[in-house]
Amino acid sequence: MCRSCGTIADVDCAIGPAPCLTASDDHGFVIDQAEVTYWGTCPDCLTTRIA
Ligand SMILES: [Zn+2]
Repeated sequence: MCRSCGTIADVDCAIGPAPCLTASDDHGFVIDQAEVTYWGTCPDCLTTRIA
């Protein structure tokens, strides 16, 4: 998700180590899915910022 314009791009797979995909406290829930949001700057905003 772009911090600048809010554009969202879906990512199918996470690559690299996952430090906290296991909840430290599941509050009694049986967890079958985790959702990760990557925050950053999209290519459009990056280009605008540089130009
Ligand atoms: Zn953007």
